[in-house]
Amino acid sequence: MPDPEAKSAPRCLYCRRDSAQVPLLPLRYREEEVWICPQHLPILIHNPAQLAGILPGAEHFALDEDAGDHHD
Ligand SMILES: [Zn+2]
Repeated sequence: MPDPEAKSAPRCLYCRRDSAQVPLLPLRYREEEVWICPQHLPILIHNPAQLAGILPGAEHFALDEDAGDHHD
């Protein structure tokens, strides 16, 4: 018996755990909703290139801090 709920159940994009196992944070990316758990949110923040295989273009999320000229 098909279970459409299971198919669309949010899962962390990184570890694939669902909200029965971990809290999930919703993200909007390219008009789609994706989810990430708090444990993997730092990857999105600090090492988004690690997500490049999961989120297309993730390798470009990080600002190039070396190129930044924001020091006064
Ligand atoms: Zn996760």
